[in-house]
Amino acid sequence: MSIPPRIGFIGLGIMGRAMAANLLKAGFQVSVYNRTRERTMEFADKGCQVASTPRALAKLSDTIITMVADPAAMDSVLEGPEGVLSAFMGGNTLINMSTISPDYTAALAKKCFIAGVNFLDCPVSGSKGAAEQAQLVILAGGDKAALEKLSPVFKAMGRSVIYAGPAPAGTALKLCVNLVVAQLTTAITEAAALAEAQGIAPSLIFDTLAENPALNCGYFALKKNNVLKKEYAPAFPLRHMLKDARFMLAEAAKKNLELPVTAAAEKLMARSNDCGYGELDLSVMLRNLTEPLEAK
Ligand code: NAP
Repeated sequence: MSIPPRIGFIGLGIMGRAMAANLLKAGFQVSVYNRTRERTMEFADKGCQVASTPRALAKLSDTIITMVADPAAMDSVLEGPEGVLSAFMGGNTLINMSTISPDYTAALAKKCFIAGVNFLDCPVSGSKGAAEQAQLVILAGGDKAALEKLSPVFKAMGRSVIYAGPAPAGTALKLCVNLVVAQLTTAITEAAALAEAQGIAPSLIFDTLAENPALNCGYFALKKNNVLKKEYAPAFPLRHMLKDARFMLAEAAKKNLELPVTAAAEKLMARSNDCGYGELDLSVMLRNLTEPLEAK
């Protein structure tokens, strides 16, 4: 990376805010855009240029990073007369780090290829804490040489990059990893509900898991307080995992593959989302298990 990139960062939500801050901390030139302008204020205070549209951001940058909610959000920042792609020229780089579908990713990779824009498909594993501590695991798809050229950028946000193959392989890998996360979350919430139903303290589950080296998983420790205190301030909003479960099921259906446990997890998350819990942490599913009447 001889000349440092001029980075334009789009999406200053739970994850993007921390990732953009780490890029700044590492000394990169970072300009930002966010749909809700209030969220850009802390970056303006740190001396970043704040663009009023994604197109204006693209004009200030040679490398755009997107960290937005879903495919609809990607459309709204990339497409149309004010979108990034209206101003992005050959030689520029677009790195998507949001979790979107493999189909959307493949179509975007094709569009970028035709326009001469380098596209990297780089969703992340790790939640709010990992983003804040620059400890994300970056799951990468795209051209390996282009990826390696930008390794200082990824190093500023994460602990490692796992190369999966051409796009949409990064997104495909992300869905597999999130399948595990979705099921771990349903496992601890169901176990806590069963403990309560049997009259034992759910904390005993966490004590036991932590004592057993084969079951002592960092993710359980991460969600322990949510489950025990029944507090669900969002690190990973439920509605994002619901979106991901639907991507997993759609991919599986295309290949005639059954994912029965993921399908059950999707149902539970959909129920929780219908109760209005979509913005809360994914572990809020516990409410639907322990307060079933409220959920109906
Ligand atoms: P978030 O806090 O909900 O932030 C979403 C961002 O997308 C915000 O900047 C939001 O802008 C923007 N956005 C949403 N809809 C938009 C639209 N129609 N047009 C323009 N911008 C729009 O989400 P997050 O937790 O940071 O997650 C971001 C992505 O990373 C998601 O794809 C998620 O699945 C994935 N992810 C999350 C985690 C996690 O633990 N949180 C971990 C790994 C991956 P506003 O500020 O205007 O709402």
